[in-house]
Parts: sequence; structure tokens; C-alpha cells
Amino acid sequence: MLIDNHGRPINYLRLAVTDRCNLRCFYCMPQEGIQFLPKPHLLTYEEMLRVCSIFAELGVSKVRITGGEPFVRKDIMPFIRKLSEIEHINKINLTTNGVLTAPFVPELKQLGIHSVNLSLDTLDKDKFFAITRRNEFDLVWKTFESLLTHQIPVKINTVVMANKNIEDILPMVALSKELDVAVRFIEEMPFNGEGRRNEADSQWNFPKILAYIQKEYPDIQKVEDEPNSTSYNYKIPGFKGSIGIIAAYSRTFCGTCNRVRLTPTGGFRTCLYGEEVLNIKDLIREGYENEYIQDKIISSISKRAKNGFEAEQNRSNQINESMTTIGG
Ligand code: SAM
Repeated sequence: MLIDNHGRPINYLRLAVTDRCNLRCFYCMPQEGIQFLPKPHLLTYEEMLRVCSIFAELGVSKVRITGGEPFVRKDIMPFIRKLSEIEHINKINLTTNGVLTAPFVPELKQLGIHSVNLSLDTLDKDKFFAITRRNEFDLVWKTFESLLTHQIPVKINTVVMANKNIEDILPMVALSKELDVAVRFIEEMPFNGEGRRNEADSQWNFPKILAYIQKEYPDIQKVEDEPNSTSYNYKIPGFKGSIGIIAAYSRTFCGTCNRVRLTPTGGFRTCLYGEEVLNIKDLIREGYENEYIQDKIISSISKRAKNGFEAEQNRSNQINESMTTIGG
């Protein structure tokens, strides 16, 4: 079992399989001019499977496939199938924008995908276009319906942004009335490719989001959070689903963080807010054996920042990357 220098067990790997995306969400990347990487810079599927086995041997049992948008990478399903066959990896989760996902839902069910996080910031088609700069709401909705039909647990991720989707908070909450879905509101982070974060958005932190929901639903109740949960979770009496709030910018959950990340180029990050601490693709391509790579991983984990603030402070440069290059 991997344990970091602060006594936190690490058993969860977030794997960004591509930096490409078919949406252009303004809080994630600029509309134009984003430089996607040439394919040779990305880990191949074979390399990713090797890295996952290396982590599995070190005690990682849960992998989340993310990106970029996982379904824009060709042949993602055979990769997921092979990943599901790796010994000790017993939970595979997926984060997707849902645009291309619907046709693959039956196979995801068959592969035993544990749950899917679907990113959706509004239920209004025009606003969807304004936020994502693409007119794809209907396809995302199709994916949502298919996930429900196939009884794959769904969590909806909604980034909360002042002057953009505040009036969508209550309709998103209402979605959990008749449907067994976890709707989670995320504080906006500065990973938009420019490092800036709108001052007004900073105000929409966890307490403010909760207070806003409480005003409409004063009897909303706190429920117990799962271990290592990044969301604070709530139930509204009579509602089938649940509500969560992720204090991603306030960073109040670092104390129980059990996750590490691999970027599409093989960069190993021990904190979302920190820099790459090791490049595993380089080690693989330089011909190092698994044991050597494992030693390097263990060594990086023994120098992990205590929290996202310390990780940010330790950076050699300011945050200016897009979430699509890290894997949100
Ligand atoms: N393409 C997939 C998707 O849209 O779910 C996976 C990658 S996306 C980068 C993962 C998550 O990161 C999405 O839920 C997205 O909303 C979130 N995200 C991206 N940029 C963010 C930001 N600046 N602040 C908060 N969340 C962000």
C-alpha cells in the first residue's frame, strides 16, 4: 500500500487518456488557439496499461478515466476492457461530457463500470451553447438517459459560475427529485488555460452555494460522506437523488486525499494544484524496468504537499494550464 508523507493511503489513480476535447467550456480552455499535443507525445494505450499495472502492484485499486474527453480518443472501449482485466483494479469510473458516450453505455454496463460522472452545467440548451461553445445538449441528455436506463450510477458535475449559471442551480437540484442521481456543484478553479479566475466566481464558494440551495429547501439534510469523498453530501426529504458540493477551490478535503494523477503525456501529479513531479512516459521510453519506476513513484509520494495550497505555493510557475491537460 502506498502511504504518503502525511500518512494518507493512496489507492486511486486518475488517468487522463487524452488532452483533446470536443467541447470548449470557457472555464476549462480558450475558445481558439489551444495547442493539442501531437500523438507521439501521448502515452499509448499499451503504455497506459503498463502504468496502471505498476500502480495496481503498489496498491491502487480504483482508476478514473478522464481527459480531455475520453471518447474522442479512438479505440477507448478495447482499452477500458483491458484495464478491467488488470488484477487488483476493482473499480473503474469514468468522467465524460456525454457528447459521444451514449452508444457505448451498454458496453460500459457490461464491463462493470462502477459509476459515471457526467459534466453538465445547465439544463438550458442556449446556455449550454454559451458555456461549452458547442451545440450538443441533446446528445449529452441522451447519454444521461441511457446511463439511467442501464442503471449505471450517475453523478452530474456542475461548475458554479457567477453571471453564467446561478439560475440553473435550482433546476439542477430539482433533477434529483424524481431521478436517482447525485447532482454535485463544483467551485470554479483557475484551470482555464489563462490562470485567471473571475472575482465574482470566487464568491460562489461552498457555504454560499449551500445557503442558496437551503433558501429554497430549508429542510435539506447533511448525510454521511463516503471515506475520501471530495463532496459534502445532502439529501432533500422525499427526493430520490442527492446533492453534493465540491469545495475544489477552497480545498477543504485535502486531509483525506487518496488520489494521484497521470496526465496524457505521462506526467505524474501528486496534487491537482501542483506541478508534474515525475514523467512516467519518459521512464518507460528510456527502457526502465517496473521496479525502478515504482521506486520513483514511491519517492514522489513521500514528498507530497500537505494540501492544495502548499502544492500551489511550491510551483515554479503560476497556474496557467487548462484542465484538459491535467484531467479534471
Ligand atoms: N471531458 C470530460 C468531462 O467534461 O467530464 C472529462 C474532463 S473535464 C476536464 C473533467 C471535469 O473538470 C468536468 O466536470 C469539468 O466541469 C471540470 N472542470 C474543468 N475545468 C474546471 C474549472 N476551471 N473549475 C472547476 N471544474 C472544472
